Amino acid sequence: MTFESFASSDTGRRRRNNEDAFLARPACGLFAVADGMGGHAAGEVASGMAIATVEKTLLEILEKKPEPDAAQAALVAAVQEANRLICEAAGSTTAHAGMGTTLTVLALLAHAHVYRIAHVGDSRAYLLRDGELTRLTRDQTWVQDRVDAGLLTPEQARTHPLAALLTGALGTHGDVDIETVAGDIRPDDLFLLCSDGLTAVLDDADLLRLLGDGLPPDAAAARLVDEANLRGGPDNITVLLIRAVDRAA
Ligand code: CA
Repeated sequence: MTFESFASSDTGRRRRNNEDAFLARPACGLFAVADGMGGHAAGEVASGMAIATVEKTLLEILEKKPEPDAAQAALVAAVQEANRLICEAAGSTTAHAGMGTTLTVLALLAHAHVYRIAHVGDSRAYLLRDGELTRLTRDQTWVQDRVDAGLLTPEQARTHPLAALLTGALGTHGDVDIETVAGDIRPDDLFLLCSDGLTAVLDDADLLRLLGDGLPPDAAAARLVDEANLRGGPDNITVLLIRAVDRAA
């Protein structure tokens, strides 16, 4: 099994800077999205540090085709290390005080036909399989807590004034709550990693409609970004699409 991927990251229509960052290394199955926050370009620093840490700590490990459990542990360790470094940087200069970032890391283990995810914040991972779109990660947000408690519908959460209020992020506390997700990979699976600039303006039904007709990842990613901008592009938009390809097919 191999992976075809395509990433698109756009400033959107309202922001001056793009504080999102991403990593796509299809040859070793490593993908990540980070959405930074903090004034004076500190958000860019935080998301950039998160992605750099993922690349530095995980590329070499994944190249060695680890057992799935070992890969999962390595993902969690990388997210913890990113948190430690960002907390340290945030505490060391006033310009970087208060900076933070989301981080969603996806490892596709072709040798074992499984994926592993480590996740903090409200960037998302989705899986499109057999015409069905499944959200793999849970948003660490104030509104998601209320959806889970039955107090808001997903649609009310998406358009809520406090939709962007995070309950989990890197760079704010020494202890970070890391969500882990695991599953199998099948040929033709399409994984989507994205920042909330996409999902604030497109709901899951929109995503399924825009992804469901089997366009190649590059055209599909461009279409998602264009659609988010058509709907106002209020935030930075990052879309990373990965398709699993069966080499034997
Ligand atoms: Ca954002």
